[in-house]
Amino acid sequence: MLTYLEARDKIRSVAKQLPTEHVPLAQSLNRILAHPIFADRDYPPFNRAAMDGIAIRIDDWNNGIREFRIRNTIFAGMETSTVLANGECYKIMTGAACPREADTIIRKEDLIYTPNETALILGKSISHGHHLAQRGEDLKQNELAVTAPRVCDISVIGTLAALGIHQVPVYKMPRVGIVTTGNEVVDIDQQPEHFQIRNSNQYLLCALCEQWQLPVQFCQHVSDEPLALSAVLRQAMEQQLILINGGVSAGDADYVPRILQELGVEILFHKVSIKPGKPLLMGLLPQGRILFALPGNPLSCFMTFKLFVEEYLHKCLGFTNERFQQVKLQTPRSKKSSLDEFFPVFRQAEAHRYTWKPHHGSGDITATVGCEGIGWHIHNKQVITENDTIPVLSLHPFFNLI
Ligand code: AMP
Ligand code: MG
Repeated sequence: MLTYLEARDKIRSVAKQLPTEHVPLAQSLNRILAHPIFADRDYPPFNRAAMDGIAIRIDDWNNGIREFRIRNTIFAGMETSTVLANGECYKIMTGAACPREADTIIRKEDLIYTPNETALILGKSISHGHHLAQRGEDLKQNELAVTAPRVCDISVIGTLAALGIHQVPVYKMPRVGIVTTGNEVVDIDQQPEHFQIRNSNQYLLCALCEQWQLPVQFCQHVSDEPLALSAVLRQAMEQQLILINGGVSAGDADYVPRILQELGVEILFHKVSIKPGKPLLMGLLPQGRILFALPGNPLSCFMTFKLFVEEYLHKCLGFTNERFQQVKLQTPRSKKSSLDEFFPVFRQAEAHRYTWKPHHGSGDITATVGCEGIGWHIHNKQVITENDTIPVLSLHPFFNLI
């Protein structure tokens, strides 16, 4: 049986970089930017008035001029070709392009406009370049603006829009096939008998895929019946990333590993020495298709997706950052097993501190509500003492815990 780190290494070793495609900016939220973006021009592209007021030449001020004749008014979006003579200014509005020779803005609050088209400066001191955003101060033409890979979150989308990137180069996410299994599992819109369980994992897995913008092209439940299972798995295998849930452990009705072998799947590993999630299986198919069979227990399903499927995606998308953050755990934790254990962690009101609470085993998905990440109790450490630092994986695939 592989250890957690061995399984992680295996996953990384088979992950291949995904192809790329262009999508309209409006459809790029949460997609992964595949290429770095460079500035097509200076930002701001012109010296921009940051206040309403007048634009003067600082030399005139230094020569003692305090009352300026208004040459003309410049509004945002206007081009001006006039040139200032001594003692002249432009009346200028926020956002307007300030002609090059005017180098300082005086806010209207610090002026009096006189009836004879002049502006009288009230302040005693002004500084050169004040209230004027300099051309290129945010970004110079051809400068690196956004690095890749990077999730297209709202700040990236705002920036790409400013840079005129209307078609965004993103990674093409693999098409997903999901198969849930189990005779006891019924769809959530049915009233289950007292011996039945709702198919919560189907919704959990679809939501996890949506968070990664993975297109789910096939999603079906099948009973623990070898022929039916074989037929449905065969269909799911037409997709590029296949997620099977349940039927992968050692029970008499756990047919998944055997059927995968019959269908020609190369089993990369089956069973990892972790808790929860031990029955996990990973397999390879022709044309680079990848298969994960996740255990049916909802907490195990959730954690194995976060720990392993996301590890695979992370590598395919070219991310190189360490996914776990080191955080302080306020509540001690001890374990009896020699396995790597994973458990939901919760943020304390006090910053930089996390805690955990006992749950009722790997079936207890309700224990994850409100949690911010998955704590890792390393296999050879029996006790985590109060305020020990432990690795935590953020629940949000792209956010780091602080
Ligand atoms: P299995 O991995 O098939 O042995 O299932 C382990 C446990 O997870 C059993 O208690 C199942 O009832 C439960 N389970 C399996 N599949 C699902 C599912 N799709 N949704 C919720 N619970 C499930
Ligand atoms: Mg089952």
